[in-house]
Formats: sequence, C-alpha cells, structure tokens
Amino acid sequence: DRPPTHHQRGTVNQSSPEQPADVVARLRATFRTGRTKPVEWRTAQLRRLRDLLTEHGDDLAAALHADLGKSAAEAQRTEIGFTIREIDHTLDHLEEWLRPESAPVPAHLGTDATAWTQYDPLGVVLVIAPWNYPVQLLLTPVVGALASGNAVVVKPSEMAPATSAAIARLLPAYLDTDAVAVVEGGIPETTALLAERFDHIFYTGNGAVGRIVLRAAAEHLTPVALELGGKSPAFVDRDADLAVVADRLARGKFLNAGQTCVAPDYVLTDPETAAALEPLLVSAVEKVYGADPQTSGEYGRIVNERHFDRLFGLLDSGRVVVGGRSDRSDKYIAPTVLADVDPKAPVMAEEIFGPILPIVTVPGLDAAIDFINDRDKPLALYVFTDSGDTRARIAAETSSGALGYGLPLAHLTVSDLPFGGVGESGMGNYHGRYSIETFSHRKALLEKPLA
Ligand code: NAD
Repeated sequence: DRPPTHHQRGTVNQSSPEQPADVVARLRATFRTGRTKPVEWRTAQLRRLRDLLTEHGDDLAAALHADLGKSAAEAQRTEIGFTIREIDHTLDHLEEWLRPESAPVPAHLGTDATAWTQYDPLGVVLVIAPWNYPVQLLLTPVVGALASGNAVVVKPSEMAPATSAAIARLLPAYLDTDAVAVVEGGIPETTALLAERFDHIFYTGNGAVGRIVLRAAAEHLTPVALELGGKSPAFVDRDADLAVVADRLARGKFLNAGQTCVAPDYVLTDPETAAALEPLLVSAVEKVYGADPQTSGEYGRIVNERHFDRLFGLLDSGRVVVGGRSDRSDKYIAPTVLADVDPKAPVMAEEIFGPILPIVTVPGLDAAIDFINDRDKPLALYVFTDSGDTRARIAAETSSGALGYGLPLAHLTVSDLPFGGVGESGMGNYHGRYSIETFSHRKALLEKPLA
C-alpha cells in the first residue's frame, strides 16, 4: 500500500486507505513535534475555522436544511453564528485564560520558593458529535481542543449525513491536516476509533453510548467529557405571567422540532395554572409557526423515520391541546402540547427529543421539587416564577446541569458559563474558558532556587 497523498489525509472514509490507528499515530507524531503548542498556531487555526464558517456558511446551511429541515435563519443563529461567536470569544480571551497562575507557598518552603500552575495541552483528543446540532456540537468542542493546543480527531454523526459530508470536505481544506482529521462513519468506525488511545474523549449524545465511551476510555485511562441528555423539566408557578411563559416555552421547545438537548421536556405545574396555560400555548404556537406549521419555513423536521415512529407512538400519551398531526413522508410532527398526562405515560418514560410538550400536574412547589428529585438529574431545569423564595428553594433543593429562571436554552449562549450535565445528564463541561479546563492539564510547578 502506498501512503496516502497529502490531500487525502484529512478525511478518512471508504475512498481513503488510512485506518483509525494510522490517523491517531499521524496526529500524535505531529503533536510530539510541538507544532500545536504555540498560541500563534492555535489562534491561526481558530481564524481558519472562522473563515470556513463565513465562506461556507451557505453550504453548511444547505446541509443542515437537508438533514433537519433547518431554516437558514435558524442554522445561522444556532449553529454557524453560534460557533463563530465562540471562536471570537476565545480569540479575545485566550492569552488571558492561558496565563500561568501563581499559588501561595507555605512558610516551611521559605520565602524564596514560588509555585504556580500552567495549562498543558493533553495531546490527541477525540470529539464525537450527535446529529441534532451537527455543526455547533461538533465544532464548539473543536474550538476548545485547538485553543488548548491539541491535535483533534473529529467524528461527525452519520445520522446527519449531509452535514457530515460537508465537514469532511471543508475541514481539511481549512485546518492543519497533520493535526486535525475527520473520520466519518457510524458504529463500526466509532468502535474502531475508541479502541485507540486518546488523551481525551469528548462525547455528546445519549447515555447508552456514553457508557460505551466511558468503558472504552477506561482501558487507556483516558479522561472523558460526556455531554448527555435527559428530561429537562419546566416548573411554572401560579404567580407567573403565563402569556410570557407560553411564548418562551413554545420557542424553546419547538426550536429544531424539539430535538434540542436542553429543550424543556415537560411542564410541571398545578392544575389551575395548567388550565390557564393551555389556551396560551395554543396561541403561542400559532404566533410562532402559523396555523399550519407544516407550511412554515421556520419549522424543522424529525431527523429520520426511526425517530418519527418513536415520536408518533408518544402522541396519544395525553389529551391533545394543540398539534397532534403528523406526516411520515415529510418526517413532520406538528408542535404538540399534551395535557392530563399521567407521570407513568410513555411520553414521561424517556427523553422526548421531539416536538411534544406534556403538561404534568402536581399540587404545588413541594410536590414539584419531589417530582424532580425522584428522577434523574436533568441537563437543565427551568423555573418560571416571580417569587424569589421559590427560585431560592429550587436552587438549593434540586440538582441539574443548569438552572434557568424565566428563559429556556439561553444559558448555553453565555460563553462564560460552563455547559454540561450532572449525574445521568453527563460529566464535564465546556464553552469559553471551561473548554480550556477540559482540554488541558493544569500542571503544578514549584521552584526553589539552588542558591
Ligand atoms: P447520535 O445517534 O448521532 O450519536 C452520537 C454519536 O455517537 C454519533 O457520532 C454516533 O456515531 C456515535 N455512536 C452511536 N452509537 C455508537 C456506538 N454503539 N458506539 C460508539 N459510538 C456510537 O446522537 P444521539 O445519541 O441520538 O443524540 C441524542 C442524545 O444526545 C439525546 O439524549 C440528547 O439529549 C443528547 N444531547 C446532548 C447534548 C449536550 O450537549 N449535553 C447535545 C445534544 C444532544
């Protein structure tokens, strides 16, 4: 076999002979030369990635439309522009984030001793991404990995094939192909990759595969971040302005046809508030997507038939307040609100990850807190209330990856907040300086002069 030519190198698929072990070895050799370590290399790569996103934004938006029916505006806001903002924030602050930090030295070491920490890159890292935001959730970790001075193997989701192909074509054209490689494929390719030794694995997706990743990483003692999902509750207090709540719930839930890891999964409220909220959710859905969301250019589609069938089976878990319609040939499921939902109904058994919003009623705040604590720790918890006491109680008495008061999803657009889960919703976090923490080793240094 002849070695791959330079232009074949960045991407691995059926047309390229490069195997996972060869990819990792090649990137590791690059890392060993020290080429990825200077901050100048890192910022140059980030600028190239920015160029890719601005020069090929239309190609990526077209791929996102093909995979998920995303509108151009939504693709820009939640994927392309989102990643550009992360790059800009990182370029603005990287040198400051990388600055060594001094540590006070105890008296027994004498007054001439000094101690400090510095961030070291980890080496070759693997980023495995899901299909629901296949640009953002692939490239935002890559921003952190490159900013930290690592070489990166990137594994897009095979369930967003147009985006995967676009990434495999574009990334090698812009980035240093000796330090960044795209490996396309599904379970066999990912399994083969996971047999290799990486210095970090950053996985976004479901908890079942998260366990597979963690087990594979254990073999090599490789640190992992697992960005998982789960059912994120939205608690609505009786004192809240319900028209505002309905509008924000509808926008947060039905974005990307509900296929958002931090989407409000279900509404938790008392029976009177539920009754008052129902008509307001009907008008909120109509305000955002019109009387027939299927004809709205702003409303997305379900990723594939398998997920369509799964979601279709959840539509009769309660009384339909709005929506309920579906069209398998178009992978369309209407924005749907279900009321009178039994906590034991199928729609409450697993993360919905689609455009179905069940309303579950509880007597009040105490019961709501118990309901949340009886279940897995969510990736996000949303609380709609005017009461400071209620906000404080929920913050103190529950655990979740993030806690959002009054507005779903928005916390993940704040680059200075860590984004990640806890318990079943994952481990580790990223965004902004937290990505540097994740993709670096904070090395301890001590110096005592010899004379
Ligand atoms: P997916 O099916 O695209 O899988 C994610 C990745 O895992 C893909 O790259 C896929 O190739 C790989 N994979 C699948 N099976 C594998 C196996 N057996 N071995 C090795 N690798 C395998 O995406 P998904 O898991 O359906 O994503 C949806 C889930 O991800 C939801 O639970 C959602 O909440 C969660 N999610 C979390 C976040 C977050 O940031 N915390 C973001 C998006 C999605």
